[in-house]
Amino acid sequence: MQLGEQAYQEVLQKNVVSTNPEWRKQIRTVGERIKNVAEKPEFKWEFNVLKGTDVNAFCLPGGKVAFWEGIMPICQDETGVAVVMGHEIAHALAHHGAERMTSGMGAEIVGQVLSVGLGKSDPAVKDNVLKLYGVGAQVGVMLPFSRNHETEADKIGLILMAKAGYDPRAAVEFWKRMAKLGEGQKPPEFLSTHPSDDRRIKQIEEWLPEVLTYYKP
Ligand SMILES: [Zn+2]
Repeated sequence: MQLGEQAYQEVLQKNVVSTNPEWRKQIRTVGERIKNVAEKPEFKWEFNVLKGTDVNAFCLPGGKVAFWEGIMPICQDETGVAVVMGHEIAHALAHHGAERMTSGMGAEIVGQVLSVGLGKSDPAVKDNVLKLYGVGAQVGVMLPFSRNHETEADKIGLILMAKAGYDPRAAVEFWKRMAKLGEGQKPPEFLSTHPSDDRRIKQIEEWLPEVLTYYKP
């Protein structure tokens, strides 16, 4: 969580917060509603929209959420924002970044964290935390989540949005809009062919009957 907080401060320093009042309101409204069902009292939640055309969003450990302006037109409305936010928060709730630390590049990061200590703000450590949580484009490295992590985040995300009062059936339309983007426009988080858009949509449709049991309009 401490690393997440430091990394988030870095992102806020390197970016400019959006001045679009509608988008800022959407992010905060959806954020508050999902926060209320996420059952993470120890998180210090924060929700921001950042200027820029990146089609990307992330949630760092501790509940530090940001969307770039570029993804807002694809979200279209609060429910679309809830699809993305549910998915990103699910990655943080399921500790996917931490799981990635157990292998490959992750092992190196654990070493860095142990050697510099959590209180220090070594830029290399912060950059690596950003990579682990899908902020890749910001640090110039693409490190998509694995297919298992994506699938898990999709399902937990749908349940979160449903519990927060957003119709999870909207996720199908959201991913269809995302599928229409050219490969070059897709960010690391959503670029991966794991799962492909078609497969993802099919899987979401299969989950919907169960997920709808959590949905209170
Ligand atoms: Zn993801």
